[in-house]
Amino acid sequence: MTNAVITTSELTCPQCGHVAIETMPTDACMYFYECRGCGVMLKPAPGDCCVFCSFGSVPCPPIQQSRQCCSSR
Ligand SMILES: [Zn+2]
Repeated sequence: MTNAVITTSELTCPQCGHVAIETMPTDACMYFYECRGCGVMLKPAPGDCCVFCSFGSVPCPPIQQSRQCCSSR
């Protein structure tokens, strides 16, 4: 079964509401993201692996594939 992995996500800044379309790396997670609107440094919510899972419209590719990702804490 092949699931198409979406690699673009709409990141919504919780601070200023700025929405940016960002491309997600398929083999890594983005833990920090600087908002293009207000410049705040976003970090994932507790329990989320990356900013896309917390603030994006689409979870990151590893999550979409039910894979482990960046869980090297
Ligand atoms: Zn912002």
